[in-house]
Amino acid sequence: MLSENNGVLHIDGISVEKIAEDYGTPCYVMSEDHIRSVCKLYKGAFDKFYEGKGMPLYASKAFSACEIYRIVNEEGFGVDVVSGGELYTALKAGFPASKIYFHGNNKTSDELKMAVECGVGRIVVDNKEELHMLNKIAGKHGKVAEISFRIKPGIDAHTHDFIKTGQIDSKFGVALENGEAFDIIQEASALNNVKVVGIHCHIGSQIFDSDPFELAAEVMLNFANEVRSKLGITITELNLGGGFGIKYIAEHNPKAYDEYMRLVFAKVKAVCEEKDFPLPFILVEPGRSVVAESGITLYTVGSVKEIKDVRTYVSVDGGMNDNPRYALYKAPYSADIATKLGQPKDKIVTIAGRACESGDLIQEDIALQDPKAGDILVVYATGAYNYSMASNYNRVPRPPVIMTNNGKARVIIKRETYEDIIKNDVL
Ligand SMILES: *Cc1c(COP(=O)(O)O)cnc(C)c1O
Repeated sequence: MLSENNGVLHIDGISVEKIAEDYGTPCYVMSEDHIRSVCKLYKGAFDKFYEGKGMPLYASKAFSACEIYRIVNEEGFGVDVVSGGELYTALKAGFPASKIYFHGNNKTSDELKMAVECGVGRIVVDNKEELHMLNKIAGKHGKVAEISFRIKPGIDAHTHDFIKTGQIDSKFGVALENGEAFDIIQEASALNNVKVVGIHCHIGSQIFDSDPFELAAEVMLNFANEVRSKLGITITELNLGGGFGIKYIAEHNPKAYDEYMRLVFAKVKAVCEEKDFPLPFILVEPGRSVVAESGITLYTVGSVKEIKDVRTYVSVDGGMNDNPRYALYKAPYSADIATKLGQPKDKIVTIAGRACESGDLIQEDIALQDPKAGDILVVYATGAYNYSMASNYNRVPRPPVIMTNNGKARVIIKRETYEDIIKNDVL
């Protein structure tokens, strides 16, 4: 999807100079071709290695917009949503409710009502308060909600502390090791308006090894086996969450996504055979890996401030407003001057945004081709957790999202206007 022509970066065959000229900067650009090819890897793995007995869900918090729900639906995915807003967007895009999995550690009663009314496929229950609230709401609607449980399997996925969610000290879900998970399933089995179908775990993000996923599958299946023998309930759905790593910088080396899946399926089959447990329907929830590498952000360079013996600040017309990930957790990114690709990257610079915060940086001390005011700067792999985490801090309008496909570009989210910014202000 990315290529070079005469030193100029192209995406799906279109020069980024042309995109910047047509749509302005800053802007996000996403390759539809790339998104679809990743979807096919995941989907194909279920067919090839697990007899199609499962479904990948796109974790839409990575990038939620009507167009992405339409695309992943065409690719045979379900989706995971974590809020009423994401659920609303998916439904507006025509996404089938039965393939929507509703997550969240503190869903409100309004959100649960909305989920029950539209008939989402599963509600992934996080805690006992939610279980009882849902049972009541489903009862009022004369429905039985099919549920799964968010479980902490106690696995350390060797990732950054801020985004590690598998262990017991986490706000998400119920733990295995202290019996909470067992208790909540027992409690649910006595309720009339929920039906226990599955168990779910999500062990972290930006994971490169397959071992943590295989271990999670084993731990979860052992637990399902315990539930079967002690409660007589057979879990038929195992959701292993997302977290598959992507390449932000050269040192990152994720496996091909169908390879993770092949290894996980092999483990599931081995454990099920050993325990004589019926093969569960498997779900995985890739978010980042579906969209991150498909996306780039284009900025225009403003000032280049060389502070002798200290550092050089290259300021761009966006920043933490459109990409807060470096400010939040020092996330690594790679960048280029998009029209100087052939030239030596011999300037060490810090890319700064335009927000009134010293911490508004995109990256510190990275090598760039000699940057000058007016140059287009590209930051790579911004398709996930950028637009979805963007803010209007300093009342900066959010950039548009442009989607490219086979030599054509189209707007899928418009640039916000100042009118949008004051839309909810009461004058
Ligand atoms: C965030 C999240 C995902 C997606 O994680 P990625 O790292 O984007 O693949 C999947 N499932 C749950 C429950 C999540 O919270």
